[in-house]
Amino acid sequence: MHGGPVALRLDDVGAASKRHEIYGRTRVRLGPVSLPFPGNFLFLKYCPGIRRWGPYRELSAAEWHAMLAILAGADARMTVAVTAAWVERDGRLVPFPAKFPEAAAAVREGVRAGRLEVANHGYTHCLLEDGRFRPRLFSGNRQFHREFFDWLPEETHREHLRRAQGVLEEFFEVPVETLVPPGNIFSPKTLAAAAALGIRYVSCRDAGRFGARDGLALVDDADVLALHDRDVVLGGLARFAALVAGRPRGSLVTVRELAAPRAEPRR
Ligand SMILES: [Zn+2]
Repeated sequence: MHGGPVALRLDDVGAASKRHEIYGRTRVRLGPVSLPFPGNFLFLKYCPGIRRWGPYRELSAAEWHAMLAILAGADARMTVAVTAAWVERDGRLVPFPAKFPEAAAAVREGVRAGRLEVANHGYTHCLLEDGRFRPRLFSGNRQFHREFFDWLPEETHREHLRRAQGVLEEFFEVPVETLVPPGNIFSPKTLAAAAALGIRYVSCRDAGRFGARDGLALVDDADVLALHDRDVVLGGLARFAALVAGRPRGSLVTVRELAAPRAEPRR
């Protein structure tokens, strides 16, 4: 990373993967040796120290207000990558603003204050078919907590992005122009669908893996300070404040701000 502006990005807001993506440590370190460990066996994958991802809770409105104050104090802005629908255990989908109304309202205040950019972080963050998103008894399920696999039909890429754009743009009342593909998984099908829906920026690890396409500006994670809501929920607000304070004043911007000068002018 360099001395210029850096995009600050917080992923997984509203994503039910924090509830259903459960996998455990499969190695443990004993002194210099790393041993196999059955971390995905039954309840073990839920235990602190073994648990690698979920479950953890959604950020509260109070935490959002605190983060907004921290950002304002540092003249910083942030992109929030929101997954538009929560997936209930039975597979029902609940839009983010209906599932977490107070948190969603706090994020909207941040958008209106010019402090937050809302990005599309998928519709579900996971595969719904056959309940593959649910925790399993004897194995982890991490591989199913991704949304835009190349083997899915074009139609799925398009529909998921379209529905997510619909939920987010209706509630936040601003155009959503940035896509953050869940788990860094996307394909040329995703990019074509995104561009057709008015998305202009794609932000993730190795964003340029398919080259420049469809007039989209690609923002690689090398230029982004990428966090997950999990880091704030489990790490605490003080850690978030320290991270923001560790950057020069005014140097943290949104993905859109970082990318806009590089983007092709819109026709
Ligand atoms: Zn994610």
